[in-house]
Amino acid sequence: MGKERTPVPPEVSAEVLFLQDHTCCVCREPGKAVQLHHIDEDPTHHSIRNLAVLCFDDHDRTQVRGGFGKRLLSAEVEQYRDDWLERVAQRRAKADELAVASAEHWAAETKQSFRSKSMIAPAGCLHKSPASTAKSSL
Ligand SMILES: [Zn+2]
Repeated sequence: MGKERTPVPPEVSAEVLFLQDHTCCVCREPGKAVQLHHIDEDPTHHSIRNLAVLCFDDHDRTQVRGGFGKRLLSAEVEQYRDDWLERVAQRRAKADELAVASAEHWAAETKQSFRSKSMIAPAGCLHKSPASTAKSSL
């Protein structure tokens, strides 16, 4: 290789980690420690398109030499990454939909209970009117 590794600019790593949900794009195990992997193996090529979030295990698999099928190839990482980006985006959209739906449901229920309270309220005041104090009203 020969190229010296340079740090990924923080705004690039932040965006990559956000877009890939801080989760290894290959095994997608939540909560695993992750690192950024340069798909083209150029450690100075810090483009968002060139970076994949990988756990240490899967990162090791990109480093394996020889042994057909053992090594995780750049093209594979790229496919996993692209698929994962899409899923993360879909999940977030879905989570938003659910949040909006439950907020609407909550708002509707609140409105309903307001409505039923305001229907009770005037009735509750009726005891002040002489007509409703009559025992025959029950
Ligand atoms: Zn992994």
